[in-house]
Amino acid sequence: MLSKSVTYFTKTSKKNPHNWLMAHAESTQDLRALKELKRSFIVSQPTETVALTNDGELSLYFVGTGSAFAKNLHQNNLLVIKGEDHILIDCGSKCSQTMHDRGFEISDIKNFVITHSHADHIGGLEEAQLFGRYVSQIKPNMVINEEYQKILWEQSLRGGSEMSESTPLVFEDLWNPIRPTRVDEAPRETWQTNIGSINLKLPRTMHYPDSAPTWKESFWSVGVIIDDRILYTSDTRFDIDLLQSFDALYNFDIIFHDCQLFTGGVHASLNELKTLPDHIKRRIVLMHYGDNWKDFEQEALDSGFHSWAKEAHSYTIENKVCVKA
Ligand SMILES: [Zn+2]
Ligand SMILES: [Zn+2]
Repeated sequence: MLSKSVTYFTKTSKKNPHNWLMAHAESTQDLRALKELKRSFIVSQPTETVALTNDGELSLYFVGTGSAFAKNLHQNNLLVIKGEDHILIDCGSKCSQTMHDRGFEISDIKNFVITHSHADHIGGLEEAQLFGRYVSQIKPNMVINEEYQKILWEQSLRGGSEMSESTPLVFEDLWNPIRPTRVDEAPRETWQTNIGSINLKLPRTMHYPDSAPTWKESFWSVGVIIDDRILYTSDTRFDIDLLQSFDALYNFDIIFHDCQLFTGGVHASLNELKTLPDHIKRRIVLMHYGDNWKDFEQEALDSGFHSWAKEAHSYTIENKVCVKA
């Protein structure tokens, strides 16, 4: 009986230990025990040289972890890498400079997904699109549905690029749109696509205005679910339904959640997040925070959160499964 053995795996095992154990469970009791005993550990390490490919494990690199107004932190943009595939989640006004200072370039990025139209998330797109058309002559890909493409182009990107040539340009002159499809049975409006081996699901969120009662009345914004394992909220107000409804479906290994250090406005605050159940809090890595985050560092840890996201660090997930007699 598996439940009488003690087994300890780390990612150094070639097999996915959790899947292996699930396949070899001998009874429903075993299965239940395994599910309860599954433990995932997020591992972060400082990354000096960013590579856009790896040996196949899912890796998340934080270009920055700062809020829109942070001056001592970089903007909260995330690079997802897995095998030969990569995608940049959001490209703020400082993103290109930050990348350059770290030894890679915005023009190296092939795939983009944008969560909403604030400048710390889209401010670098004009450089990316103009560089692509006039310097590298490589059109980058963007995961975007028709509804948000219209918003992004008409309200933000068009001004600096449409009249670059004698014939007005359109969005598709500058980007290859990758159209996500609607997920039928999601708890709320959700879009999904694959970038090679990386699965992305984009649930709508409630970011702004702060008067909107739900995501339905909010302006366009989405979070990102990566490989059904990780929830990256991007920017959202406190929205327990987002966390609970999708966690019930996916039982996330880890949740990266934006965290404002005061309450009010268009972000979830630390005090609001503290009211979450412990089983969710302990999987939350706080991100998108203000320069004064150190003043709250210990308070958050004492409140049961996993940790604070660190910029220029890469995050990977290890499964450690321990089955005890
Ligand atoms: Zn933001
Ligand atoms: Zn925002």
